[in-house]
Amino acid sequence: MTDFLVPPPQTPTLCIADSGQRFPIRRIFCVGRNYAAHAAEMGGTVDREAPWYFTKSAHHAVSAPASAPIPPGTSNYHHEIEWCVALGSGGTGISATEAMAHVIGHTVGLDMTRRDVQAQAKDQRRPWDTAKDVEDSAIFGPLLTNGLPAPDAQLSLTLNGETRQSAPLSDMIWSVPEIIAHLSGLYRLDAGDVIMTGTPAGVGPVVAGDRVVAQLDATTLLDLTFR
Ligand code: MN
Repeated sequence: MTDFLVPPPQTPTLCIADSGQRFPIRRIFCVGRNYAAHAAEMGGTVDREAPWYFTKSAHHAVSAPASAPIPPGTSNYHHEIEWCVALGSGGTGISATEAMAHVIGHTVGLDMTRRDVQAQAKDQRRPWDTAKDVEDSAIFGPLLTNGLPAPDAQLSLTLNGETRQSAPLSDMIWSVPEIIAHLSGLYRLDAGDVIMTGTPAGVGPVVAGDRVVAQLDATTLLDLTFR
């Protein structure tokens, strides 16, 4: 047994639908501006040269919670619903044609964002970490391991019963195979890596007491209240 100076952190995990097993999270990669309408609402344009990324600590993940906290340091904490894929294997130099063989499950997630902090970081040309890599800010539904959704499956989010975000996965600019192929040129992808694939238009703030429901087609994968 290793004699640790302090207790080692526990491996963050996702629950798996219809299974007692858990999925251990290694890293969380997030794709920026992957829906044209969201890029426009953020005052940007889509970079068609290549996808780009930021990351969140695996320790900032929450699995299918009934509630999630509003963090300190923001007065504009935004929801971003995203389709998320989990890798069961990886490698480098993965081709788009072989990429999906590495996907072991998928779900929807919320890339929660301190939007005010992000706007200031953009203005000052500073990194986004304190806006994006926020404790409890990577909120995932149960991992679905029984196949992939239809290419035009509808990603949707309601806030207190009102639809705020809704778009088919086919609106994504970079497909998951393209993202995996590109990322594997930058990182040694491996089992446990999770990719949040970007959000469609309609992001907005949540406050304590707000209820957010996230669905893929008619399947509810997240139903939580902020506190
Ligand atoms: Mn996002």
